Amino acid sequence: MLFLVVDQLSQEYLVRMRPLLSGGLGYLLDNGAVFTNAHHNHANTVTGAGHATLASGCYPRRSGIISNQWYNRATGAQVYCVQDEQYRRSPSNLLVSTIGDWLKDMDPGSKVFAAGGKDRSAVLTGGHQADAALWYAVGDWVTSGYYAEPDWLDSFNDRKWLDQFFGGLWEPLPVADNVLEELGIVALDEGIYQRSFPYAFGSKSLLPNSGFYSDLLSSPFSDAYLAELAKTIIVEEDLGADEHPDFLGLAFHALDYVGHGFGPHSREVLDTILRLDQTLADLLEFVDQRVGLDNVVISLSADHGVVPMPAYRESVGSWGERTDMDDIACFQAVGQALTEQYGDDDWLRVGLYLDNEAIEEAGIDRLEVEREVATLLGRCDYVEHVWTRSELLATAPVSAAEQPTEGEAYFRQLFFNSFHPERSPDFQLQYAPYYLNRMAAGSSHGTPYEYDTWVPFIVVAPGVGPRQISDRVHTADLAPTLAGIMGIEAPVDLDGVDRSASLRNR
Ligand SMILES: [Zn+2]
Repeated sequence: MLFLVVDQLSQEYLVRMRPLLSGGLGYLLDNGAVFTNAHHNHANTVTGAGHATLASGCYPRRSGIISNQWYNRATGAQVYCVQDEQYRRSPSNLLVSTIGDWLKDMDPGSKVFAAGGKDRSAVLTGGHQADAALWYAVGDWVTSGYYAEPDWLDSFNDRKWLDQFFGGLWEPLPVADNVLEELGIVALDEGIYQRSFPYAFGSKSLLPNSGFYSDLLSSPFSDAYLAELAKTIIVEEDLGADEHPDFLGLAFHALDYVGHGFGPHSREVLDTILRLDQTLADLLEFVDQRVGLDNVVISLSADHGVVPMPAYRESVGSWGERTDMDDIACFQAVGQALTEQYGDDDWLRVGLYLDNEAIEEAGIDRLEVEREVATLLGRCDYVEHVWTRSELLATAPVSAAEQPTEGEAYFRQLFFNSFHPERSPDFQLQYAPYYLNRMAAGSSHGTPYEYDTWVPFIVVAPGVGPRQISDRVHTADLAPTLAGIMGIEAPVDLDGVDRSASLRNR
């Protein structure tokens, strides 16, 4: 099984850029069951939460991976989602099992590998029983003591595959001007943010240094490097070579870095997708020669989408706004107001966690403070709703089939699905759609709106013919659906639904 996740790959990209996709993305779109209306069903659409949901079939409220990091009330420290005291990185914060775990439970002879440009994507995709999870660090692929280090890893790193780009430039693949125009590709950033092709990697150093390797991670060539690693995993670990089904999870991150930097209508994003299309074509051809694509189940999805930049929205006559100085001042004024009203204390910790102990000691009513903070935050520009702990604790889960797909009841469900009582903050802000909570150029994600939730959901498998399915499905359905296709037993209490029965050829 080849489990592909592309960071920040909005389904809108596949629709808009479809005519240019003739490589691996094109192959998957042509040959797969393509769910054209698949959404993340949680509000906090970020990398950690997205990967955990895709791999586990559970919403963040159950997987515990509510975000990339959160505040630990007991220790007062920030927790990174794959942080581990003993091993530095492990899936110990992931409270549920993943498809790789289900596979291992069914067949201990199966091998489970995961690799990605970010440690959290590799670790969360691999699950608790992975043979190895590998991630990118300064040009090398590394792991943690939680996993056995593959004996071939050093020699792979010693190849210094990325060094071929030292002294080179990132130039865009040729695309005709009229096509660029049709795709809505425009240069939007101004002033200090204005940048354009070609890009060099790193600084004026005579040898590759950390800046060189970090720039490469934010370029399409890190995706190609991941594919190179994937080929080595397949060969060295003999994946797909026997009757035990194996799992290889790959997380491609170049698009997220490029999208944050340049926004979804940039030439840089287009080029990253075109090159990913080529990279995947090359990888799939390799898999075909080695194992035969007839023997492989492939899935493709994304951890989240991306919001169009305010400058783009304005260029097409629509509303969009970026965080500005007023927004920051308003936020700070909430803290000030609390101090004025209740005295000098840290009532509200970073990340919008109330200090329950301080509140209790001061003999203040917690609910009153909660209401007060929610009211104050709600007065800031573009804050549409402040979802409080009390509100979410009073929310009942609704099955996917019965869930409303719009309006406040819809958003309540998404914020509820992102809420874990121990880990989540006391307040989650729902900003207006197309408000970009970021000051710098480029774009971001992390909202419950369609531009962040709508992602690819493609399954290519033996016995599953090409088709488009427009029914609304959720990303939590991916893992149980793959399990259904592979005959793997999944836990019965997942949030996601197995859609495999509807995919089989008649
Ligand atoms: Zn991101």
